[in-house]
Amino acid sequence: MATLLEVSGVSVTFDGFRAINNLSIQMGEPELRAVIGPNGAGKTTFMDIVTGKTKPDEGRVIWGDDNISLLGRNESQIARAGIGRKFQKPTVFEAQTVRENLQMAVKNPRGPFDVLFWRKSSGTEARILELAEEVGLLDHLDRPSGELSHGQKQWLEIGMLLAQDPRLLLVDEPAAGMTPQEREHTTDLLKRAAQTRAVMVVEHDMEFVRRLECKVTVLHEGSVLAEGSLDHVTSNPQVIEVYLGR
Ligand code: ADP
Repeated sequence: MATLLEVSGVSVTFDGFRAINNLSIQMGEPELRAVIGPNGAGKTTFMDIVTGKTKPDEGRVIWGDDNISLLGRNESQIARAGIGRKFQKPTVFEAQTVRENLQMAVKNPRGPFDVLFWRKSSGTEARILELAEEVGLLDHLDRPSGELSHGQKQWLEIGMLLAQDPRLLLVDEPAAGMTPQEREHTTDLLKRAAQTRAVMVVEHDMEFVRRLECKVTVLHEGSVLAEGSLDHVTSNPQVIEVYLGR
């Protein structure tokens, strides 16, 4: 497994408060990784750094085969370099059908989806069908996205991100608000997506993380507290202390 992303010695200070403190994380390709940690551990800020939304005060963020630095690059340059981000709330175009949403994403590789231009794109039907199948929405292609369940909207948005063929997909709490069946489907979907790319999942739900069966990174006070299998990290006394209190 080759290293795709190398974050080393990164720190971020907000108004004198060190939210990220000498943080180092590596991601391979392909790889599925879960990032866990209590509220305020720095998970969101970490994703903000990787996607160019927040600039660290120090440290390095090195990407890809040519070891380029992502620091100093803006969010759209980083997205074009192959890093996709799924925020917690689904953001799909509700008035458009599943097919039209996927079509927009296919026609705008690694660019912004512009709802005004969707009619002009003919789309690649085969790719749309492939994506719909990958995320389990083949039977819903002609439904307006607004009619989908919460889980289905999340899968559609993941499909739209996969259309951009990211090398690294960052996914924020995908299981939140989902039914048990939807969670199971989401687990399968993420595992499949991670067979050919790097997928990093930030998640609170430990049962969901267990099902992902992947390496886990535990963040605490802006640093890596533990890393390894879920059983390994959850048997770490420091992790237990952080989660259960003193
Ligand atoms: P998590 O996602 O793990 O809950 P965050 O990355 O959101 O953690 O936050 C880490 C810490 O940094 C928290 O203590 C939070 O209050 C603080 N923080 C995050 N963003 C800002 C900001 N823009 N200004 C000040 N403090 C911030």
